[in-house]
This record gives sequence, C-alpha cells and structure tokens, in this order.
Amino acid sequence: MGLKCMVHKFGGASVRHAEAIRQVARIMQQAAGKEKGQVLVISAMAKTTNALEEVARRFFKGEEHQMQDIRTWHLAVVEELFAEKKREKKALLEHLNDLFVEAEWILEEEPPEDFNFLYDQLVSLGELLSTRIVAAWLQSEGLPVVWKDARDFIRTDESFREGRILWPQTTEAVRRELLPEIEKGLWPLTQGFIGSSDDNYTTTLGREGSDYTAAILGHCLDAEGVTIWKDVPGVLTADPRIFENPLRLEKLSYREAIEMTYYGAQVLHPKTIKPLQNKNIPLEVRSFLQPSQTGSLITAEAEEVYPPIISIERQQALLQISTRDFSFIAEHHISYLFDRIARQRLRVNLMQNSAISFSLCLTDVNGKTDRFIHEIKDLFNVHIQRDLELINLRHARPETKEELLKNRLVLLEQRLGNTVQMVVRKLPPVKYK
Ligand code: ADP
Ligand code: ASP
Ligand code: MG
Repeated sequence: MGLKCMVHKFGGASVRHAEAIRQVARIMQQAAGKEKGQVLVISAMAKTTNALEEVARRFFKGEEHQMQDIRTWHLAVVEELFAEKKREKKALLEHLNDLFVEAEWILEEEPPEDFNFLYDQLVSLGELLSTRIVAAWLQSEGLPVVWKDARDFIRTDESFREGRILWPQTTEAVRRELLPEIEKGLWPLTQGFIGSSDDNYTTTLGREGSDYTAAILGHCLDAEGVTIWKDVPGVLTADPRIFENPLRLEKLSYREAIEMTYYGAQVLHPKTIKPLQNKNIPLEVRSFLQPSQTGSLITAEAEEVYPPIISIERQQALLQISTRDFSFIAEHHISYLFDRIARQRLRVNLMQNSAISFSLCLTDVNGKTDRFIHEIKDLFNVHIQRDLELINLRHARPETKEELLKNRLVLLEQRLGNTVQMVVRKLPPVKYK
C-alpha cells in the first residue's frame, strides 16, 4: 500500500516572523533528498488568528476593524524575506493581494446573519496567507514544495467554527489530491485548521486545530510518522508558563497524551491523538528552536512509570442544578439536561449527582453556558460559580497536590485510578502587613 511519507506541522510560533520562517526552511532541508515524501501543515502566523477574530467581531457589530494592520504586518514579513528575491516576491504578492481582495469583498457587504459562518470565511485568511508566504520561501530555497488548498480535501459538515470531519470524503480527497504530488517527488504544503463543507463554504476545525489537520493527513495518507514542531522541547509534565521547570516526557502513550490534552494541556489539540492512534502512527513533538534534539515520542507503548503530570483548564463554570420542587434528581431529569447540553454543544468536563442536585463542570466560553441556563431555568434552580479552574492531576504524589492547593480552594474533587480532578477557585495572594 501507499507511499512512504512524513507529515510535519509548524504552528503559529514557528512562522511568526521572517527569521522563524527561515528556520522552517533549515529544518526541512534536513529532509531533502530522503526517499520519503514530506507533507507540511502550517498555521497562521502567531497572533493573526486573534486579530482576525477581532475583525470578524467588529465587522459583525458594524464597528471599525483593523484588517489593514493584518495586511501591513504580512507585507512587512514578505519585504524582509524576499528583499533579494524580486521575481519570487512579485508572484507571491499577487497571491496575497488576491486573498486580501476576497476578504475586502466580504467586508464591503452587509454582515451575514450567522456570526459563525462569517467567522470562518474571514478567520481562515490567516492560514491562507501564511502558507502562501512559507511555500514561496521554501520554493525559493530550492525545496520541492507545492502549495495546496486544504479546502479541496479537508471535508467537514456545516458546523461553522467547529467543523466535524467527514472521514470517507476526506480520505478519498486527501489521497486524490496529495498522492500524485508525492509520487512526483513534490512536498504538498497546506493550511492547518481550515476545511470546507459540501457546499464549498470554508469551515474551521476549532481554535488550535492545525495539529488536528496534521493528524488527519497522517491518518489518510498512512504516514510513517507525524512531527509537530513547537517552541518547547516536547511534551512537558506541566505548562511551562504556569510552573517552573517541568520535565520533558521522553516517551508517552497515546492514552496518556489524550488524557493530558483533553484536560487542557495546550501543547497539542486534543483531537490530534485519535486519528494517529487508530493507525498506530507515531507522533513526535519537537522543538523548532533546537531541531537536532529529540523531543517527545507518542506511541501505543505505555511507559510503566510516569512522573506527576498536571494539566489546568481555565474558564470553567460549576453549575449546581436542582429541581424546583425539591424532588429527587431522577434519570428523566438527567436525560432532559443532556439533551439541552448536546444541543448547545457544551463541553462537560466533570459531573456528580446527589439526591436533589446535579453538578456539572463546563467550559464556559462563547455564551453557551448562559444559553443553557436560560433553556432549563423554568424547570430547575441553577447555582453557578464562574472563573474556576479544572485541575487534572495524573500519577500524583501527595506533595504535588499539597503544593498545587496552597493558593487554591477546592470546590469539587473526584478520583479515578491514578487521576485526581479538582474544580478549584484560585485565591488571591495573601498580603501580610
Ligand atoms: P503552536 O505554535 O503550535 O500554536 P502552541 O503555542 O499552541 O503551539 O502550543 C505550545 C505551547 O503550549 C508551549 O509554548 C507551552 O507554553 C504550552 N504548553 C502548555 N502545556 C504544556 C505541556 N504540558 N507541555 C508543553 N507545552 C505546554
Ligand atoms: N491559527 C489557528 C489558531 O490560532 C489554528 C492553529 O494555530 O492551530 O487557533
Ligand atoms: Mg497554537
């Protein structure tokens, strides 16, 4: 079956400015001349997606937006990279101009009714721009890259902002669009995060979704491996922005990785693991800053012993739901509540019930919690606490927990096997006089 190939994913941080893009070329030079095909998945340049989200929000509300700034900083990167390569620059600028013109068309019309639809049409611009720039740079450095539009093969349903992959169509299209290129010795380079619906509208896969795109391509192409290049040395035992000196995990199982990322370890998008696990494709997380070093290898083989691993998910709400007439929380209540939860596509991270109340810990974003409460308030009393954290602690030692809870108040705690989960409120630092 199929051709041998490797999928590489470069995230926002690894293409954030001209020097970072030069580093992508250096890393990929190492792969040149190897027999295997190479496939590249690229995110929008760092901060672009946030800026485009803001453009979409303001435009929707009829306010001034800053699309011009986004244009300016992309063009500045192009100027810096291609100062000596006038011919390549001219061709690239034409592509970028076409993309900006398409965005302008959207911004000249009345905003559509569906914000999520508008969001995907505008926010996808980030990946289209970055891939054009990176592809042009790698080509100019002699690498056999061919730019591909992910919307020709990443097929989703019409859930704008959280498109669900249509696997049979995507598999067929990925193989149709990419295998002939790989056979010719070319390296397809495409956008992470974006796809298209049956009606050919652009969709996105959810924030940070480029890792997921790399896994989808790895799965559909039966890749030998997927490498995700990050600004950290690999998967660490905790978020280095919150904890000092977390350890790098040399090897971890798909299971461990899925548990960590599902509960907020932001190093990988949580959907990344499954498509790879299903085909037993190894995933490496490596540092683009130190590409000669090994990173973390994620495979089916479980490590016997892990150090304590902490993930913290923020923006959590704890809801205590009780019946209005003091009756027991029975199965039909729970069934009713879950029907409403599924309709709002709420993410339930933890739940617990008692005789007359049912507690849920939810990710509290995009106004979904309020809509849910509004829907159930005629039948239930709801007590809500917001701005909480969900701590997921695996392979915990008593001292790890003690340290973590120094400045946190535990509102709910559960333990299953070697995992402890706690919904906590972070306390302000104590001030001594
Ligand atoms: P990308 O450039 O692909 O978008 P991200 O910024 O989304 O990369 O993810 C990498 C970041 O994830 C790191 O810079 C790090 O701060 C953060 N992070 C959070 N938890 C972990 C963890 N357990 N291991 C490694 N990095 C983590
Ligand atoms: N550019 C998108 C985001 O910032 C997708 C990604 O980077 O993975 O969310
Ligand atoms: Mg990211």
